[in-house]
Amino acid sequence: MKSKPFRNIPSVNELLESPPLQNMVERANRNVVVNGVRTFLDNLRQEMQTTADLPIPNPAELAERIVHWIQEDETPSLRPVVNATGILLHTGLGRAPLATEALQAVHDVSRDYASLEVDLATGQRSQRVTAVDKLLKQLTGAEASVVVNNNAGATLLALAALAAGKEVIVARGELVEIGGSFRLPEVMEQSGAVLHEVGSTNKTRITDYQNAITEHTGALLKVHPSNYVVTGFTEETHINDLIALGRKRHIPVIHDIGSGALLDFAQFGVEGEPLATESLRQGADVVLFSGDKLLGGPQCGIICGSQIWMNRIATHPLMRALRVDKMTLAALAATLRLYRDPKEAIHAIPLLRLLNTPVENLRQRAEKLSTQLATLPAFTTATPVDDISFLGGGSLPNQQLATVCVALVPASGSVNQTAAALRAADPAVFGRVHNNQLLLDLRTVSPSEDQKLLEAASQLALS
Ligand SMILES: *Cc1c(COP(=O)(O)O)cnc(C)c1O
Repeated sequence: MKSKPFRNIPSVNELLESPPLQNMVERANRNVVVNGVRTFLDNLRQEMQTTADLPIPNPAELAERIVHWIQEDETPSLRPVVNATGILLHTGLGRAPLATEALQAVHDVSRDYASLEVDLATGQRSQRVTAVDKLLKQLTGAEASVVVNNNAGATLLALAALAAGKEVIVARGELVEIGGSFRLPEVMEQSGAVLHEVGSTNKTRITDYQNAITEHTGALLKVHPSNYVVTGFTEETHINDLIALGRKRHIPVIHDIGSGALLDFAQFGVEGEPLATESLRQGADVVLFSGDKLLGGPQCGIICGSQIWMNRIATHPLMRALRVDKMTLAALAATLRLYRDPKEAIHAIPLLRLLNTPVENLRQRAEKLSTQLATLPAFTTATPVDDISFLGGGSLPNQQLATVCVALVPASGSVNQTAAALRAADPAVFGRVHNNQLLLDLRTVSPSEDQKLLEAASQLALS
């Protein structure tokens, strides 16, 4: 049912004939422009229905407005942001930022052809993982490795290769949801393995695993409960006991350690993060971890383990479906290379550098930024405050890191509105809202980004 005022809106074809839109069609994709005009007119009609007497611009002005609107819409929705949330591994913000060395490697191997699957000495076909295999073996002590799309993929592949059609014994308390409402058990079931849950939510003993083993058992699985902790009346089976049991019964033990720390995080005040090296040294057959969590590299899933089981994994058909591209391999290889010298890794890998920044450094920057931000009309006050940052990204929730934030109190509008305005600024800034203040946590901000915080905040005053 068309009401009268709609008749005053020019048609899509009329608008497309107008000089500004004709001009746009000549240099842009026609479908994009036609679609843009339609959507704009739909929105306008909707607005007219809710707002009485909405003035309709004349056709020339309308065309100009549509061109502008389509151009605005061209701003990519995936773009850099300043992470001032204090969550170091923020999955929504892309987890670990990459080292300059990793970015350079991605650039170099992607711009030109690259020796992805050839051996430069012989000219023969080789495996694409060769680029990182040697490094992973050196750094973890594993006999063999493969790299797939992410750790969920690593879990899927390892279970499919080792236990499809068989049972995998796993503690009930370790069957976790990993964010984005993905539940590990559901991923695992896609492998064709049947999960055999043992123990109770808070207690699993080695005898629970022992009693569950039958001729149908394909693997014993231990998952590091990374994004939650069970406290109080609890009992967890140690990986060593599980390894001993697996050895005795000739059943492979898979250890999903999650974060993939390659060095001891206790030096940053982060306790209890399992090390792949340690797990393999104790005799775990297969160890799984993410590349973009504590390792500080690109998104990928790394599988390390003993030759015999890794052969089954590397030759499984799913390997082809889950393999990574040359950009990921280049970034991972460059990141791993930095770990050959732990001091260099801490200096060059952004995640480790952020973790390692002394609180005193954060305080000095927070004080300086507060003074600058307080002069902006958008805020009543801007003050440095001591607070706590979190690792995030599926690491232990009880890991707390000392930090200093700038606490902002907006001069007008709500704190949430100010937070939204900063997200929409250029550069986009993500802070965290706490106690009716907007906190900019410097633990996750590089010193080189301080200026960007000011730049974004100064745009608020204009609106
Ligand atoms: C994060 C996590 C996963 C999933 O890893 P992705 O790389 O995000 O797929 C699986 N298991 C554990 C224990 C984790 O912490």
